[in-house]
Amino acid sequence: MSCSEKVCGASFPELIRRKRDGGQLSKQEIRSFVHGVKSGSIQEGQIGAMLMAIWQKGMVAEETMALTQEMMLSGEVLQWSKAWAGRVVDKHSTGGVGDKVSLPLAPALAACGCKVPMISGRGLAHTGGTLDKLESIPGFTVLQPVEKVHQILEDVGCCIVGQTETLVPADRVMYALRDATSTVDSLPLITGSILSKKGAEGLDALVLDVKFGKAALYKDLHSARSLAQSMVTVGNSMGIRTGAVLSRMDSPIGRLVGNTLEVCEALECLKGRGPDDLQELVTSLGGYLLWMSGQAASLEKGQKALAEVLRNGAALQKFEAMLQAQGVSADIARSLCSAQCDYFLHLRPAEHKTDLTAQSDGTVIDIDGVVVAQVLHKLGAGRTKAGENINHSVGAEVLVNLGQKVKKGEPWLRIHYDWPALDAQQHSDLQAALLIGRADSYHANPRVAEFILPQ
Ligand code: URA
Repeated sequence: MSCSEKVCGASFPELIRRKRDGGQLSKQEIRSFVHGVKSGSIQEGQIGAMLMAIWQKGMVAEETMALTQEMMLSGEVLQWSKAWAGRVVDKHSTGGVGDKVSLPLAPALAACGCKVPMISGRGLAHTGGTLDKLESIPGFTVLQPVEKVHQILEDVGCCIVGQTETLVPADRVMYALRDATSTVDSLPLITGSILSKKGAEGLDALVLDVKFGKAALYKDLHSARSLAQSMVTVGNSMGIRTGAVLSRMDSPIGRLVGNTLEVCEALECLKGRGPDDLQELVTSLGGYLLWMSGQAASLEKGQKALAEVLRNGAALQKFEAMLQAQGVSADIARSLCSAQCDYFLHLRPAEHKTDLTAQSDGTVIDIDGVVVAQVLHKLGAGRTKAGENINHSVGAEVLVNLGQKVKKGEPWLRIHYDWPALDAQQHSDLQAALLIGRADSYHANPRVAEFILPQ
């Protein structure tokens, strides 16, 4: 019997049975499972069965830590110059509508002295991906060799790149099978998948933006807190100082949704003119990282440092340098980052725009971000399968603020589209996404609800 079939005396069917019946796997057994996944020596059916057993019975903290560690070690683990010790940081978000936070955050942290090797993903289903947003900019290249990443971090301080083939290969196999076996929404599997990749980035500190609400993976604060606590425990056990922010995700973040439009709004934020909620997220997440990595004496001081580099143009300069380092021409990078740029001189606008108008007088109580994202997805902004082409120019402009009074007939949403055109059903779905009510039924809430401390 080969070692792929037998682990410490137990065969894979025995391990699957033990987990299926609620038992615990040892570190050595988890190591053998991950090796088998990476090498291809375990059958896909067995991997799928183990994933389903984990989905059903969960894992204790020791098992989740072992899974994460072994997944991380299935590939290359990046190592950085000793001179940067303590300053290599990153953020991970569980995903939301209009979430363009990474675009201003990475250069703002670099402007505060951090090194940010941000490895991001593409959008799937109704959530957008940071790489897709950046690819709206002509020339921007997300795939960079590791040597180039080192050089960009040395010269600029931040980069935003895609995952290479050599990083966490076990996750690539497991993620595809999780999708196929309906086991994506499992706390230990999500923790292992996200933190193995962050561990492989060789980070000193990590902040997790765990979203809750109608447009988030987790609908309520309680379940988002459980995920955040699981990830914070495992992240710290791996030697990464890890904290989390629980943030509300019901209405879209900022005013603009869709890849190209979100680049415009990120640039406005970097010019100190961004919407309040985007600025709040950037300063809270970045300030928390500065405090956790010992670069700010308190969370408040960290937040102030972030706000200052957004105000004084230092973060914008880093963004311009990052664009150039990742393939954008110096002329386009300079123009996009100039104070009065017409962004559509460089970014492709959609051919058509349609305004939706309020159907009654009243106060804007809510805008359902999921509905907006689902309609944009159908108009070509997102993919249904990995690898599909998308239309970067499709998007939406929210023309009103929550809590604002509106009159019947006043425009509240502008949809940007090419082909297919916005149809009658989508138009009426969007109208239903706007909740208008009495002023006293509106309660303003900040995006950030809670900070989970590193343990
Ligand atoms: N993102 C990941 O990379 N993995 C998950 O499991 C969920 C979100």
